[in-house]
Amino acid sequence: MALEIIKYGHPVLREKGKRIDRVTAVIRQLAADMVETMYAADGVGLAAQQVDQPLLLTVIDVSATEHPWTITPALSMPLILVNPVLSHPVGEQTGNEGCLSIPEVSAQIRRAAQVTVRAHDLDGRELHFECTGLLARAAQHEVDHLNGILFVDRMDAATRASISGKLKKLQKETEATLDKPKKSRRSLVRS
Ligand code: ZN
Repeated sequence: MALEIIKYGHPVLREKGKRIDRVTAVIRQLAADMVETMYAADGVGLAAQQVDQPLLLTVIDVSATEHPWTITPALSMPLILVNPVLSHPVGEQTGNEGCLSIPEVSAQIRRAAQVTVRAHDLDGRELHFECTGLLARAAQHEVDHLNGILFVDRMDAATRASISGKLKKLQKETEATLDKPKKSRRSLVRS
């Protein structure tokens, strides 16, 4: 089931993800729904915060893009990363970046050219890989989300200033929807 994507201005996007100690059937379903949501929105990655769940869980699939990337050792997409941690940033890349939670905004963002990712998959197996190019960019963008960081925070001051009007408008629109009572907030974190 494709889920609603949370937009800029919603406080859950600023929450740090809670560590997942046990992959339950509910977490498994959430991951499947996140993959479906990412494909439906034509995205290359999605973090749990973006579907209103502050958990350390993200999904990534860069296989359909034209931008170069590598993963060593090879793993098939979509990647479903439970409790991911990045390390060993190498070099630098600057490229265009956008975010499903911040529609109609894109900008050049500087990221590490290569990162090492450690995580677990849904079956509890350890994943440990190096990635470059667009995959490294996506991993950094998504792990930022898991820490409550958005790509607008990584913009230089001039770029940030140039999109501040769009951000304010989006924030207002999001806040207006927050005032309405929610029908049912499916929460995995709070009881
Ligand atoms: Zn994003």
